[in-house]
Amino acid sequence: MTKWIEKFPQELQAKVKQVDEMIAPKLAEVDEIVLHNQQRVLDLYRKHHVAEEDLVGSTGYGYDDIGRDKLEAIFADYFKCEDALVRPQIVSGTHAISTALFGALRTKDTLYYMTGMPYDTIQQAIGIVGDNPGSMKEYGINFDYSPLTAEGKVDYAAVEEKLKNDSSIKVVAIQRSRGYATRDSFTVAEIKEMTAFVKKINPNAIVFIDNCYGEFTETDEPTFYGADLMAGSMYKNAGAGVAKSGAFLVGRHDLIMQAASRLFAPGPGKGEGATYGYQRDFYRGFFLAPHVTGEAVKGSIYTAALLETMGAEVSPKWDAPRTDLVQTVVFHSEEPMIKFCASIQHNSPLNAFVDPIPSEMDNYEDRIIMASGSFIEGSTIELSSDGPLREPYALYIQGGLSYAHVKIAITNAVNETYFK
Ligand SMILES: *Cc1c(COP(=O)(O)O)cnc(C)c1O
Repeated sequence: MTKWIEKFPQELQAKVKQVDEMIAPKLAEVDEIVLHNQQRVLDLYRKHHVAEEDLVGSTGYGYDDIGRDKLEAIFADYFKCEDALVRPQIVSGTHAISTALFGALRTKDTLYYMTGMPYDTIQQAIGIVGDNPGSMKEYGINFDYSPLTAEGKVDYAAVEEKLKNDSSIKVVAIQRSRGYATRDSFTVAEIKEMTAFVKKINPNAIVFIDNCYGEFTETDEPTFYGADLMAGSMYKNAGAGVAKSGAFLVGRHDLIMQAASRLFAPGPGKGEGATYGYQRDFYRGFFLAPHVTGEAVKGSIYTAALLETMGAEVSPKWDAPRTDLVQTVVFHSEEPMIKFCASIQHNSPLNAFVDPIPSEMDNYEDRIIMASGSFIEGSTIELSSDGPLREPYALYIQGGLSYAHVKIAITNAVNETYFK
């Protein structure tokens, strides 16, 4: 039998072996997190008596959709919140965030990001970039933010000043994952501290979390520690690559009701919304999410470790604490970034035969290169890589349904980029 590794140059084989030994204890830590989270999810499926009939879904208005209501109760329980909205009609993470914010905010209110500028697509919804009809700006909702410190941490002095002097701040937003920035993602412990800080100065401020990429990477979630409202995507961590679309919100009951009024119509609110063929995928996806997220996190650890041994600049470092799926590799120039990205594409289960070409994308400001050969389009719980072609040429690598796939794809990409 020829082993998968034997096609690579000796030097790369030796590096892989060295990396395997180095990261083994770190991978074992991930296994412990997976076990903890899997136990909690299983307990909730048992507690809520999930049964075959919950998986069927409803049609038309979707009144009395017991499976839908049960899944939302499970999400609320898992995230230790009063209520949840888990719907196929929320088409993306961006849509979930936009729905949550439009639900909570009114004209003359201010949305304030304490973690620097928000993720690119959210800037469009706010109206900071682009000139999109129906943006928050058009509704007279104000936006403000405080840049992070040079170390990429929250500037607490600046936050304190804003909160004390601007009584129009109604929502304080925290983005857990780095998005297309080179800062570190914020751990749940850090978000806990931010939430407590905000509440101490302004107890009425609504603390909102963009949790995209974060779920299940730790044993805790921001909503365990006082965050009022939180958004995530079903085709990232929480859907395990099984959910075909959808996103979710969890949080305080009144805020979930407001978001539902915005998503659907005021009146029926969350009592409506058929789930047709989605429920089985949602239930199965959420059940598998602790495991699949663990696989992806292990893949990120391997990616960081192997690229570090190649001398590349990576963030987070292989042994740093992890709170999301994103692994950044900085290439400092266009060519290796495109080469590495292409290799990921060529080692994907779908569309392996195409070459990614840098291009403009709706909702993004710069040219983007993107590799994704996923079963669910844009599902970044599946292995993908992307990044804007601008300094410092940072490629964001995330996801992986199985550790084995990530290991194979990344080893091939390293071979293509550094050994050819
Ligand atoms: C992915 C992501 C979003 C938006 O999610 P989409 O499903 O791509 O719209 C928002 N914020 C962060 C930090 C993300 O990583």
